[in-house]
Amino acid sequence: MNILILGGTTEASALARALADRPWNSILSLAGRTRDPIPQPIPCRVGGFGGIPGLVAYLRAHRIDALIDATHPFAAQMTRHAADAAAETGTPLLAIYRPAWTRPDTAVWHEVATMQEGADALGPTPRRVLLTIGQKDLASFTAAPQHQYIVRSIDPPSVPPPGALVLTARGPYDEAAERALLQQHRVEIMVTKNAGGTATVAKLAAAAALGIPTVIVTRPALPAGLATVATAAEALAWLDAQADTRRSE
Ligand code: NAP
Repeated sequence: MNILILGGTTEASALARALADRPWNSILSLAGRTRDPIPQPIPCRVGGFGGIPGLVAYLRAHRIDALIDATHPFAAQMTRHAADAAAETGTPLLAIYRPAWTRPDTAVWHEVATMQEGADALGPTPRRVLLTIGQKDLASFTAAPQHQYIVRSIDPPSVPPPGALVLTARGPYDEAAERALLQQHRVEIMVTKNAGGTATVAKLAAAAALGIPTVIVTRPALPAGLATVATAAEALAWLDAQADTRRSE
């Protein structure tokens, strides 16, 4: 069985580890955003496919029997392309979609639908703002230069907001360290996406404990009808079932 995993997440790496000793040809696809990606135990390919037509061509050329979309909940374009390409080629598709975070009891959350709304929610008064939103959505904050930004991302952003302090780090993070970071940089408000998962969740409790409000961007919608599971283990069980079905055909 030939399996393509669309990765770039903890769940994709967990599935890759689980597939390393299965008798299938598994390939992990990475977008190539991170300069120094975590080494993987299965073959990897790196870079975009070239839109839906490129992914359709890839699925056909590599005779992919099962497609796992294990991309980040905010990688909406890739998820849409996977759904369209799977439909066009008849490739079985499953998405690993980790549960969203819920608000810690004492936390003050401002939920917004877009990063621009998140930047607007900071208001006109200058504040010290921790941005833990990755690198690609910083432009909205560049347009609000009255704030002092502390940007934390895996790699340094190519265009940080003017005057921003850039901290490069890769999770997982624990709550004590997150609290120390918020205090050390005298953060007054934090902006994040509702990524879900355990690796970066500690900042929410840390902010709540310190009374620091959080602006949190809600998730983009999933394509209609997309089959999802929450964990890599469930995706592995689905692949086992796919293999059984193929054997009995
Ligand atoms: P996106 O906006 O949904 O995708 C943009 C384009 O990047 C896609 O159309 C595709 O190019 C390419 N791409 C995305 N994921 C890919 C993959 N796994 N393999 C090959 N090509 C891929 O995605 P994004 O938000 O930029 O995220 C890029 C990667 O970073 C994903 O792997 C995602 O899991 C990971 N990531 C994203 C976030 C986030 O907050 N967005 C956070 C952590 C990790 P083509 O159209 O040319 O095929």
